[in-house]
Amino acid sequence: MAIVGAGASGLACAYFLKNRNIIIFDKYEGARKLSITGNNRCNITNMLPLEEFLEQYGKNGRFLRDTFNNFFREELIEWLEDLGVKTTTENGRVFLKNKSSEQFSELLKSKVEHKVSLFKKFEPVVDIANDRKVFLIRTQKGIYKSKVVVLTCGGMSFPKTGSRGSCYKLARKLGHTITDLEPMETPFCAKNCCSSLKGTTLSNVKVTLTVNNKNITERGDLIFTHFGVSGPVIFKLSGNSFQQAILRIELLENSKEIIKKLHFYRGKVRNFLSQFIPARLSQIAPYSEELAANLNKSQLNLIKEFLSNFTLEVKKCGFDRAFVTKGGVSLKEVNPKTFESKLIKNLFFGGEVLDIQGNIGGFNLQFAFSSGYTIAKSINERFGQIIA
Ligand SMILES: Cc1cc2nc3c(=O)[nH]c(=O)nc-3n(C[C@H](O)[C@H](O)[C@H](O)COP(=O)(O)OP(=O)(O)OC[C@H]3O[C@@H](n4cnc5c(N)ncnc54)[C@H](O)[C@@H]3O)c2cc1C
Repeated sequence: MAIVGAGASGLACAYFLKNRNIIIFDKYEGARKLSITGNNRCNITNMLPLEEFLEQYGKNGRFLRDTFNNFFREELIEWLEDLGVKTTTENGRVFLKNKSSEQFSELLKSKVEHKVSLFKKFEPVVDIANDRKVFLIRTQKGIYKSKVVVLTCGGMSFPKTGSRGSCYKLARKLGHTITDLEPMETPFCAKNCCSSLKGTTLSNVKVTLTVNNKNITERGDLIFTHFGVSGPVIFKLSGNSFQQAILRIELLENSKEIIKKLHFYRGKVRNFLSQFIPARLSQIAPYSEELAANLNKSQLNLIKEFLSNFTLEVKKCGFDRAFVTKGGVSLKEVNPKTFESKLIKNLFFGGEVLDIQGNIGGFNLQFAFSSGYTIAKSINERFGQIIA
């Protein structure tokens, strides 16, 4: 049997398969994305209760109920312990404790490498044909036959890790529908902003995204970058579909009271504001260099607007900077109990190639591992030890 893609999902699948007659292909050396997750600490899962956990994937979360019944957080943590990997929980997010993401990736790859018959690194699959009873897998180096194919070759995000969208092409060629693809968990690029603010952070700030006259508000931490804005609250908002949108950041919640006080301040506007907002932001406030006492009502109103509605015109920065891909193989064509294609027998999909994406917080890796496990379980139950 063949696994295309040695990322989190493909490696978990290979690990849990009883059969050892496995060939696994990767475009590169495998697990590149896993090795850089969670700032090299790998946010592997989350402690949210199941129902809230499922909500983190939006409406498609329902698809995961069966697979989480098979292999959820407890099973994942137990598996890691078996591998000698300890975890730690911070604000509900579970991280690796005694290994970096990079070390964990190497460990997982070496376990799989010892088990499978062939680990074909730097050998991307370019085509798969289904000849009823057998799949013909074509790479740049040759053609391989397999009764079972598992597609775990990822999405389009962070293409330097190997996931450049070729998995969608393979799935489409096999007759599957790919829903609209969009970058998700991505920073926003902004017009005329924000190089002077680079590195400025705001904690637990209220941010509103306006898309086609609809307002979506979230709260969380934000960081200005040289190209725009990033951070958890932006990643959360990036789950919404849009080409161009307006982002409003509430720099201060009590701007009305602050403006009343500003009116009686005997110094420059920026000196007063820097008591409440980061200095770099106070420097770009309207009339920042003016003496506060000299300002009239409409000028004060402009400052109030700046504080309560710091406005940016934004778009998603693209797949290069996105952590995950929104969209993928349509779930209507995949069995949620087995992750097998409903169109072609013995074809399975796992991980990011599917139209399932979680919020930041460990939800994507849990899904990648759970789907890999469930595919292995399905194949084990159907074939036991006897497949080629
Ligand atoms: C910087 C960054 C940090 C992240 N941090 C976290 C985190 O802390 N927690 C979390 O839950 N999620 C995190 N994510 C998201 C998470 O890493 C992914 O959702 C997850 O790794 C997807 O796993 P996968 O196995 O489906 O795909 P991938 O990990 O992308 O693996 C797919 C594999 O397939 C290979 N491949 C692609 N095309 C072919 C082909 N044609 N032939 C052969 N091989 C091919 C690729 O080389 C790759 O190795 C992060 C993502 C990024 C980019």
